[in-house]
Amino acid sequence: MKTLLVALCSLLVSATALAATPWQSISQPISGSPQSIGGFSNGCIIGAQSLPLEADHYQVMRQDQRRYFGHPDLIQFIQRLSAQVNGLGLGNVLIGDMGMAAGGRFSSGHASHQSGLDVDIWLQLPKTRWTQQMLLKPQPLDLVAADDRNVIARHWRPEIDTLIKLAAKDSEVTRIFVNPAIKKQLCADAGVDRDWLRKVRPWFAHRAHMHVRLRCPAGSLECEEQAAPPPGDGCGAELQSWFEPKKPGSGTPVKPEPPPLPPSCQALLDKHLL
Ligand SMILES: [Zn+2]
Repeated sequence: MKTLLVALCSLLVSATALAATPWQSISQPISGSPQSIGGFSNGCIIGAQSLPLEADHYQVMRQDQRRYFGHPDLIQFIQRLSAQVNGLGLGNVLIGDMGMAAGGRFSSGHASHQSGLDVDIWLQLPKTRWTQQMLLKPQPLDLVAADDRNVIARHWRPEIDTLIKLAAKDSEVTRIFVNPAIKKQLCADAGVDRDWLRKVRPWFAHRAHMHVRLRCPAGSLECEEQAAPPPGDGCGAELQSWFEPKKPGSGTPVKPEPPPLPPSCQALLDKHLL
């Protein structure tokens, strides 16, 4: 009886863990013409594609997590950027989380990455390809000093400037999130060509990777676009405010209830989770 109870309990526990977000139980893309639906932090995707896991110019980390799905525009962007980086001889691009097969909310790690248009790209460009073991348990390289104000000089490489700049200059990219100390370094290094800095937004964490977001794809009629970043390179007062004693948004953290899903995403869940 006791064994049965224990077995029942562990069943319940695993059911609860799975229920953390229903999106994780959808393992294959929903077939249909590609549609990013809803917002980056409250959405889903139909017709997602898998990023090819074997490629010459990039490597995909933590493949066991199956977070390598996205809109075809995202797949093409990753391939385009990696080819450019490789063409310049800068090294191998390391791809982190994209989205799940049908998008939606992860149980941990991200609020966004929900509509197949976000990707995390690590800010290191190894010259030799990583082994499967390294890719499964990747070691992030923290580029930000303990004071949270500067990058660590011995870790900072000019090719990281180039990687972020190439991504920001891509016409499909609308925003790139990096740690404020990294944005500060980019501002210092940029010289006269600085329009691209507008897209590079300071944000919490992001000490070892950049988070790249694409615009809503043409034809994704239910995709919710974000307002454009404020004009200018964002290297002045706005960036400075991140280094003030009270960081923006650092008051008492409020965790709002997740908003209701867009109706098309709810319908998709209802249909595929029966
Ligand atoms: Zn991200």
